[in-house]
Amino acid sequence: MKIIDGKKISNQIKDEIKKEVDSLIASNQKVPHLAAVLVGEDGASLTYVGSKVRSCKQVGFDSTLIRLPSTITESSLIEEIDKLNNNKLIDGFIVQLPLPKHIDEEKILMAIKPEKDVDGFHPTNFGKMALNMDTFIPATPFGIIELLKRYNIETSGKHTVVIGRSHIVGRPISILMNSKREAGDSTVTVVHSRTKNLEFYTKSADILVSALGIPEFVKASMVKNDVVIIDVGITRVEDSSNEKGYILKGDVDFESVKNRASYITPVPGGVGPMTIAMLLKNTLLSKSLSKDK
Ligand code: NAD
Repeated sequence: MKIIDGKKISNQIKDEIKKEVDSLIASNQKVPHLAAVLVGEDGASLTYVGSKVRSCKQVGFDSTLIRLPSTITESSLIEEIDKLNNNKLIDGFIVQLPLPKHIDEEKILMAIKPEKDVDGFHPTNFGKMALNMDTFIPATPFGIIELLKRYNIETSGKHTVVIGRSHIVGRPISILMNSKREAGDSTVTVVHSRTKNLEFYTKSADILVSALGIPEFVKASMVKNDVVIIDVGITRVEDSSNEKGYILKGDVDFESVKNRASYITPVPGGVGPMTIAMLLKNTLLSKSLSKDK
């Protein structure tokens, strides 16, 4: 069994990005600028956005954090988004999800100019991805593809089973793994909360991508020998022995499943760190495409 070290690979990617930024600076060009919009005080969102901003600094990007109160109206938030759409200094921006209940997430994502949508959630970018056109690929699935590539894991002709069909992970990774592309070309089955006899599918997976958010849901009895396990799940589980009061758990019962797997991502340190690295990569791409944003 080999551990897929997302922390190591994400650091490699950040180093590669930093080199590109250094050469932009050496030729007197503007460095990429990522903005993040954070609405409200959600603890996990604060942590995620904080590490996105810190990672920008690490690679030499400019970054702007826009914090807005949870009471903001939908129309005022759209006004803020418009400002970012029209700000020529910003190459790309994200709106951290989830948003407060009174705000329609779909409307907000639709308001982001596709050319600046470095999360790749806008229907224009999602559609391009589905058609295998060049575009911003949502960071988490993009990170999974990059891990498979960098570990030279064969995907062509394999059976990939994806647990979960969310718009940010399950659905896009199922499209990518099935597309005619590097780290693609596999036969994909998507299972979800309404799937009957889920184990029937997971047991036949050569590659299992789990993105459902239930800690230790995937047990050794649910997978076959030599399966490749990509565990996307991150759930905070209460733990008073830990100074933070919680620990992070993946969707996979790591201790039992690791003995069956040929490759496995740990939680933390697997898919998680890749998400930020790929967001930076999308921002660099956005900068290189920027002419008249
Ligand atoms: P979500 O919460 O939007 O959806 C969960 C999906 O799981 C749904 O499609 C649902 O049908 C499916 N599901 C729920 N219960 C199920 C069951 N019993 N059997 C089979 N399927 C079931 O999902 P999400 O936003 O993709 O998040 C999933 C997990 O991934 C969460 O733990 C989240 O924190 C984590 N996540 C991690 C990263 C990262 O950077 N590593 C990024 C995004 C999400």
